Amino acid sequence: MSKLRIGTAGIPASTKPRSTANAVKRLAELGLRHMEIEFVRGVNMKEDTAQEIRALAEEHDISLTVHAPYYVNLNSAEPEKITASKERIIQAARAGAWAGAKSVTFHAAYYHADDPEDVYDRVKHHMEDMLERLDQEGIAIRLSPETTGGPTQFGTLEELVRLGVDVPGVYPCVDFSHLFARSLGQFNSYEDFAGALQLIRDSLGQQALREQHIHLSGIEYGPKGEKRHLPLKETELKYEDVLQALVDFDVAGWLICESPILEEDALILQGLYNQINNT
Ligand SMILES: [Zn+2]
Repeated sequence: MSKLRIGTAGIPASTKPRSTANAVKRLAELGLRHMEIEFVRGVNMKEDTAQEIRALAEEHDISLTVHAPYYVNLNSAEPEKITASKERIIQAARAGAWAGAKSVTFHAAYYHADDPEDVYDRVKHHMEDMLERLDQEGIAIRLSPETTGGPTQFGTLEELVRLGVDVPGVYPCVDFSHLFARSLGQFNSYEDFAGALQLIRDSLGQQALREQHIHLSGIEYGPKGEKRHLPLKETELKYEDVLQALVDFDVAGWLICESPILEEDALILQGLYNQINNT
């Protein structure tokens, strides 16, 4: 059995009627093994629904992760916006934990005009604070800030790995498509992808790569980085080399496809991944 569980960002398009519970069953029918629950516009899942999803996911062997709302900025100049951001992440973590999800990802902050070093310190402080609150509530889930798609956003791989070193309980969610877009297409070789995984292994240990949260899909970039997600067949990102590096570094965990043709591309990635694994 392959190590990486591959699946969709949210409900597969072919799910009928459209609901998270039906999505779990649809993924199993498709032969996919993971779903990221998308709370990108707000956390609206009640505890009984989450527990129903948890039972279905266990029954169908579908693992789960969560994406917290987009409206998060741990470096806002307005304190109430920081408080609201942390609240959204904690709500997503709480609902995710009810559903049995192992990791919650989010885009942590914007730099604005601030020194990235100061932004790092602020984000680190808020991560520690959120972990303490989750711990007090008995919520066991990883906080996995995501590598971001543009240069105005906090979230280089180096920043997130450093957070992982400084704050136990934080792990980088590696969005390879964002790293490609952020670098304006420079980060696009097997050596680059392997280098990213090497950095995680050297800094956080092979253990981190055993439960690695990953995003991978086609993407288009402009002068400011990420523009939009694309189907795999339209992207310049060398996603086959990403998969090869993931196999070579023995990476396990969850790979989520955020392509506009969700399950079609997730199945392509799964097919390629299995092919690489068997050669
Ligand atoms: Zn994201």
